[in-house]
Amino acid sequence: MPEINLLRTDTIAVGSVCNITETLAARANQNQPTLSFEFFPPKDEVGEANLWAAFDKLAEVKPDFVSVTYGAGGSNRERSLAIVDRMAKDVMTIGHLTCVGSTRTGTSKIIKHFEDAGVAAILALRGDSPKDDPDALEKGELKTALELVQLAHEVTSLEVGVAAFPEVHPESAHMQHDAMVLALKQQAGASFAMTQLFFTVEAYTDLIEASSAAGADMPIIPGVMPIANAKQVIRMAAMSGAHIPPKLMQQLEDADEVTARKIGMDYITQLSLDLIKVGAPGLHIFSLNQSVAALELARGVGLCR
Ligand SMILES: Cc1cc2nc3c(=O)[nH]c(=O)nc-3n(C[C@H](O)[C@H](O)[C@H](O)COP(=O)(O)OP(=O)(O)OC[C@H]3O[C@@H](n4cnc5c(N)ncnc54)[C@H](O)[C@@H]3O)c2cc1C
Repeated sequence: MPEINLLRTDTIAVGSVCNITETLAARANQNQPTLSFEFFPPKDEVGEANLWAAFDKLAEVKPDFVSVTYGAGGSNRERSLAIVDRMAKDVMTIGHLTCVGSTRTGTSKIIKHFEDAGVAAILALRGDSPKDDPDALEKGELKTALELVQLAHEVTSLEVGVAAFPEVHPESAHMQHDAMVLALKQQAGASFAMTQLFFTVEAYTDLIEASSAAGADMPIIPGVMPIANAKQVIRMAAMSGAHIPPKLMQQLEDADEVTARKIGMDYITQLSLDLIKVGAPGLHIFSLNQSVAALELARGVGLCR
């Protein structure tokens, strides 16, 4: 395995890359992983102020790109698009796009909006039927992320990324099924993947192995969540079906808030270093619209400039 230079002293030459795959390749040539952050559209004005304060702080360390989530069923569409519009002016931006409950025409219009906003790529997702519209998937025209990748390929030249699941998608019987679906998405034009949160390096290496065996050899960027607020991360892990290793779980539950933060941040920093060591092409940090823990993690693995 090549030795990885974690000191990102140099930047990628301005204008030399214009999309995510090229950025990943340029960083790989420098033996460096990419650094990126995920943001979500906040619910109110206080959340909005937090988001932009966090974005400004995180932009200072020159991430290679950022991404912005999108509510399934278009629940927060306007806010998501407004954030994408603004971020894309400053940093290479990936707009997440879900298709559950959507029409082909409506989805094509949003893809056009992303194009006009200057996004680098869309992350093509199915999304899940919202609680207040449990039949959304049945009612919509597009049933899977694969169909969204195909549609995107028809209507835009934007780069397309997709989701990957180190702990297997909750509706899938096994990892090989997910890997087969990932390979179909690659054949349909997807050129990179980003993962759901997970907590062991084995979960990531198992995914890479299964995907590669199925013919999906696109870069798969691990998504990592700073464990600063242990209770919040435990809740989010449960919602996404990610397993926190029993020993870590016990330590987090037994410790007071301050100690739990130290244990959690040390754990996720070491996991991130291990992921880079096994060849992860970058780290996509779920910022939760907060800069402090995201920066601590990025600095802890030596990815800040
Ligand atoms: C990095 C990342 C970002 C995310 N961002 C968002 C976001 O912004 N907004 C949001 O609402 N949700 C988001 N999600 C959650 C995601 O939408 C859900 O996990 C959803 O349940 C599945 O999305 P998908 O794109 O993987 O769907 P799909 O690829 O459609 O997969 C859903 C299920 O169907 C199966 N399947 C799909 N296609 C086929 C096929 N052709 N043949 C057989 N089986 C098939 C899959 O194996 C899987 O079990 C994100 C997830 C990740 C990992």
